[in-house]
Amino acid sequence: MNTHDDSSQIYGQIYELLFSLTDFNNELDIDLLNSNRIIDIYIKLLKNLELLQVAKNKLLRYHILTYKFATNHENYKEYKHDIYSYKSFIRSRQLTRKANIDRIRCAIASHKIAVGHINENYEVSCSNQGCSFSSKLEVFLKTDKCPRCGFPLNIIRNPKSVSRIDIIKYLPYSGNYLDIATKFNSHQRWAYSEILRLLKLEERRVLTSASIILKMVENGKIIRKRVKVELERKDFRLCEEKIIEIFGQNARIEKITWHKSKPILINDKYVRQSLAIAYVRFVDALLSKYNITSEDIYKKLPIYLISYDLSLFLLMKTEYERSTSIGPFPHMISRPSINQIKKLTSTLRWSDIAIIVSNLGICKWKLTQQSIVLKEAMEKLLRGSNSIFGVIPSTAMIAALIYLTSNLSLSHVSDMFNESIAMIINALTRLKIYGIEKYLTEEQKSKLNIVPEAESEKAKLFLKKLMCNS
Ligand SMILES: [Zn+2]
Repeated sequence: MNTHDDSSQIYGQIYELLFSLTDFNNELDIDLLNSNRIIDIYIKLLKNLELLQVAKNKLLRYHILTYKFATNHENYKEYKHDIYSYKSFIRSRQLTRKANIDRIRCAIASHKIAVGHINENYEVSCSNQGCSFSSKLEVFLKTDKCPRCGFPLNIIRNPKSVSRIDIIKYLPYSGNYLDIATKFNSHQRWAYSEILRLLKLEERRVLTSASIILKMVENGKIIRKRVKVELERKDFRLCEEKIIEIFGQNARIEKITWHKSKPILINDKYVRQSLAIAYVRFVDALLSKYNITSEDIYKKLPIYLISYDLSLFLLMKTEYERSTSIGPFPHMISRPSINQIKKLTSTLRWSDIAIIVSNLGICKWKLTQQSIVLKEAMEKLLRGSNSIFGVIPSTAMIAALIYLTSNLSLSHVSDMFNESIAMIINALTRLKIYGIEKYLTEEQKSKLNIVPEAESEKAKLFLKKLMCNS
């Protein structure tokens, strides 16, 4: 095995691949992001993502081989009389390896973020009016004709999308985040590191969940069931109690696998770096376009925007949607803690930046910090009650939360969200039934007076029944 040749070959391939991606950003001019152009870009992203993943695996495998080689083989003999040079030989090898893997991982993260943004913003439908076929963009990897009727497929913009597609022009596709970050000026660097901190928001408390295989009797037959239980700590008895509570005395625990989760908001260093780079550069381009020069805005706006976008994502998506699809924020935990949400959304209270944002028209709605905290609190509450309901996100639901937590009037909120007052009252009724009152101040509670009493009593009973069912 000739390590030198192998390494130059593999590094050469990787260098070429990453180099070919350096100018990818130029293909992503916003004006081009329509019709057929978006399909080309999407397919290219997916194909490059595949190449990058293959390259990453190759590199990792190669490193394992060379590591064995370096410790077992002649190279080591050459060096063993000179421990210092041997150490530096290993050290320099480790540095090269880390730099290369870093770049590939960052490139992969950037590609995933871009794919997630496009997935969120575009959908596919059939051009035949009588055909109801719709799908994700992935279908274009196989065909551009409708699989049901053979008509050409159309791309449509998803009106409910909650991501800032414009940022994908600024992602570090070739993984060169370090080059970019070191060239940032002091305001950009400040914004960059603040965003990194915001996206990490590590919690000290370690949550534990457990996958359990249960043996139980159902209709006279012994069956096995797999369930997942959330726990505050690793405790067999606590686990047992929960199982009995949910499945009754007949359930026996056959096997438990403990999971420790590290509650980091976005649990991937490279996704955090790529997003931070993209938001800082996006804001930079935007502000120079409008000839805005205030340093304070350059520093704060990127942080405000990403915090706003994440807030909207939390508000508009169900927990399921957040955890399954490849969305605009890959590796985001599906259940951030209330504490994390409070920290993430504290930026929304920067009123000076909120004014700029509203003048520039770059944020869809005015959001309040408490609305996001409330939505998460309601989700937790409903989860705890084992109710079959979750908080179903809708524009009306958000409008209701904003109405409760801001000083805007009902008609103002109705205008802003383009939702009828009746729909908002409907959402308020649901929130009241779910028990939102305990999180509200007296003044906010009084806003719930518009909810019709009789209806809510009836619904309360209905919900009580459902909740007792479990
Ligand atoms: Zn069709």
